[in-house]
Amino acid sequence: MDPAKRASVGTRVEEQVKDWLRYGDELGLGPYYRDRAPSHQPSEPASIETAESAPVKMAPAAVVRRAPVAALSAASAPKSAPSPKSAAAAAPAIVAPASLPSLFESIDRIVDDTLARIREDIGDCTRCKLHKGRTNIVFGVGNPNAELMFVGEGPGHDEDLKGEPFVGRAGKLLTQMIEAMNLRREDVYIANVVKCRPPENRLPEKDEINTCSPFLMRQIDVIKPKVVCCLGSCAAQTLLQTTQGISRFRGEWFDFRGAKLIATYHPAYLLRNPPAKSEVWKDLQKVMAVLGLQPRKR
Ligand code: URA
Repeated sequence: MDPAKRASVGTRVEEQVKDWLRYGDELGLGPYYRDRAPSHQPSEPASIETAESAPVKMAPAAVVRRAPVAALSAASAPKSAPSPKSAAAAAPAIVAPASLPSLFESIDRIVDDTLARIREDIGDCTRCKLHKGRTNIVFGVGNPNAELMFVGEGPGHDEDLKGEPFVGRAGKLLTQMIEAMNLRREDVYIANVVKCRPPENRLPEKDEINTCSPFLMRQIDVIKPKVVCCLGSCAAQTLLQTTQGISRFRGEWFDFRGAKLIATYHPAYLLRNPPAKSEVWKDLQKVMAVLGLQPRKR
């Protein structure tokens, strides 16, 4: 199909889905197929809104495509020890029609896409306001055939200067986490939701996420990792298209574009809150089990 036609089909499908979601909302059914209400994050404070209804801007050569509604039919079983907070908290965190392929999953992937082409499409990007403050675009780094891909939020000061993700204090902790999994940093792939540093390390805004995340989706499609590990709320909420706080679903498995996806706390959060490291280690052990990895011998 020619790209213009494909784009128009994508837009039409998107409109239909929006209508469907609106209709569900009118019937009060929204929460049953996806949690679309803003939420607090008791453990990781900064909550963002989902990129749900905003249009996605694409690089010129790219196909219009949205982040998939992940198959949240939870590849996951309910947590064994649910926290006794409230009935709402005990209910399944996110509910979606089981076993149906996601509508967005079935929408185009770019045939023969490559990391080089994605980088080329990004170019000297000025698509969103983040370009104004950046030194370097931080594309991503690591093994292009990685079985494990980490997704963070966006570059900080050190990353902006170096043009490489996770090289500051949080990055050093991430490297330690990777090594504890008996992997080297160069074995995995590391990328962020946005590729330019947000000023003062603020959270990326919705329009910035919508503009930049399609490139991340393409990176995931090209790398085809077995496991995507979201570091923190921004990555998790963007990929899962939810506004739920990460503590509601961290450590659970989801199907995502042919990969298994798990979310855990961001290393920067762990620097502020070291006791949460044990929770993260539990999550990473789940990843190791899926990848057949043994912990590093000390
Ligand atoms: N935090 C992120 O989310 N990404 C980085 O690259 C560095 C810090």
